[in-house]
Amino acid sequence: MLSTKFSPMSKEEVDRKWWEIGDFFRRNSLWMLMYCTGCCAIELPPAMTSAYDMERLGMGPMATPRQADVLLVTGYLSLKTLRRLIYTYEQMSEPKYIVGFGSCTINGGIYHDSHAVINQLNKYIPVDVFVAGCMPNTEAVMNGFVDLMDLIKNKKANGWKDYHERYEWYLANQKAALGEVRVHDEFHE
Ligand code: SF4
Repeated sequence: MLSTKFSPMSKEEVDRKWWEIGDFFRRNSLWMLMYCTGCCAIELPPAMTSAYDMERLGMGPMATPRQADVLLVTGYLSLKTLRRLIYTYEQMSEPKYIVGFGSCTINGGIYHDSHAVINQLNKYIPVDVFVAGCMPNTEAVMNGFVDLMDLIKNKKANGWKDYHERYEWYLANQKAALGEVRVHDEFHE
């Protein structure tokens, strides 16, 4: 006779299963908030329309940070814009992801020696995927999205966790660039 003995899963296993299910749906329906700061943003229309049709991947635009999964930063960032970007990122629900477009987000690009432009975005907020190039072509952008989906699948898109764990480091960099960074919301209080 077959055994009908049932061994229940531990709480950790149940949590892990739920996260796997959640990650499956999340990576197949990524909603993007487009923070179009620089010229790399011009690659988004072909990515979104019939040429590359990113909706095939379940990706689509979202109007507000609180409903978005992915923050797209499409190029250079002035100090003035960085402050708004940090506020926007911190309003997003977790888990959340950042994709940085172009050399400007990696090392400042052609503006690397400007007094008003930051050089390395991931000193201030955690970037999960960089798409290299100036500007990156649409294939590279689409590849960046597929890379992000793979990272989520393999539990490696952990920038949002890093932001919690090393918040003091991020905050110190933010303050060094901007002076006081004062936000009153549930993330900080
Ligand atoms: S990487 Fe090049 S194309 Fe992109 S925002 Fe910077 S200067 Fe513009």
